[in-house]
Amino acid sequence: MTVTINFEQHPCFNAKVKGQFGRVHLPVAPRCNVQCNYCNRKYDCVNESRPGVTSTILSPPQALYYMERVLEKEPRITVAGIAGPGDPFANPEETLSTMRLLREKYPNLILCLATNGLGLRPEYIQEIAEIGVSHVTVTINAIDPEITRQVYRWIRDDKTVYRGRKGAELLLERQLNAVKGLKAAGVVVKINCIVMPGINDHHVVEVARTMAELGADLFNAMAMYPTPDTPFEDIQEPDSLMMAKLRKECEQYLPQMRHCTRCRADAVGLLGADQSEEFHGCLIACSKKIVPLESKNRPYVAVASYEGVLVNQHLGQAEQFQIWEKTDSGFKMVEERIAPAPGTGFERWQKVADLLHDCRAVLATSMGDNPKEILSKCGVLPVEMSGFIQEGLQAVYDGGDLTKLKGKRPVVGAVKGGGCSGDGLGCG
Ligand code: SF4
Ligand code: SF4
Repeated sequence: MTVTINFEQHPCFNAKVKGQFGRVHLPVAPRCNVQCNYCNRKYDCVNESRPGVTSTILSPPQALYYMERVLEKEPRITVAGIAGPGDPFANPEETLSTMRLLREKYPNLILCLATNGLGLRPEYIQEIAEIGVSHVTVTINAIDPEITRQVYRWIRDDKTVYRGRKGAELLLERQLNAVKGLKAAGVVVKINCIVMPGINDHHVVEVARTMAELGADLFNAMAMYPTPDTPFEDIQEPDSLMMAKLRKECEQYLPQMRHCTRCRADAVGLLGADQSEEFHGCLIACSKKIVPLESKNRPYVAVASYEGVLVNQHLGQAEQFQIWEKTDSGFKMVEERIAPAPGTGFERWQKVADLLHDCRAVLATSMGDNPKEILSKCGVLPVEMSGFIQEGLQAVYDGGDLTKLKGKRPVVGAVKGGGCSGDGLGCG
């Protein structure tokens, strides 16, 4: 795809425009694949302003919906980024899906990602370059595995957790390859390096030198914020003198970012005039909104119901799904489809997703985390609700608040107990 993007309008990469243009962070990436010793993602407070913090999580369609609302109110936003609250590539489906949706709707929007680099494999680099993600920040705190190992409690690659030197070596290898790959793909690369006194402060200039050799464009030495309840909570935040000296030394190798505001994973607004508080209500409302994953080629909604009036079956117990569509005069049931036989785990949910390939959503009283995840990835929005089918259909087709549907009415004929506990463990 050919996109015309005005790189000059990225306020993080071009300090001259920080008072003119703003960015929005879309919190679609909850999971992280490493544990930094300075990070605590537990806090959820609008007044807590630092990376890793967000008030809520959005699905990719909700992120697009939120973006539309933000741009209506604040047209100076030129950049949409994903910076957590975990890592974008520990959540690659959500990240790529969000980027694709944004690019489709906004061809000129600057797309930006911030990652620790572990999960940024070559295939993802190729994909983000194709989508037109023009700016990526990689956080690299050291290039010596003996220092790196002090910074990370663990590093998880797929299902394997590494600690100590082995994990540090793996992370470093991936980070260096990510920077090289991004540059080869023509992406603008910023390196964030968190300055931790006593851990890596003596090494930061070396990181900048190495990154310059790899072709990085910008270097952001960031003062570590001592976060409560983390192993580094007692490390003192580097003072401005230390930071000024380090940045000056790093500048021999790379241009320095000096206007970073260490923003939240759901930050929005101009860098110096954050509007996260102002958009907080809008963000929360969007996180509750039912936004179908993809309406193109998905005209129907599947329903788990005994009799065709109420949504009153657990997804795992449904022996068939009723397939509904929206017509000019309301909603009409089109057919019933036999559900795949229970008890075959992942395979079964994949079969359900295939069966509902033309449905934009499925309504059931409850469902486990596994089916929810699989269905979502396959483009079927999982909706847990009780009450009249008509209400659920209206919410899905016209947009509505998910929380208002959940548990609204006593469920007639629902089977108590059995099935999935909703924790993802008992759903076959
Ligand atoms: Fe990108 Fe970081 Fe700026 Fe967000 S704050 S837009 S992730 S560079
Ligand atoms: Fe926190 Fe980011 Fe480190 Fe993950 S990579 S632990 S989100 S600071």
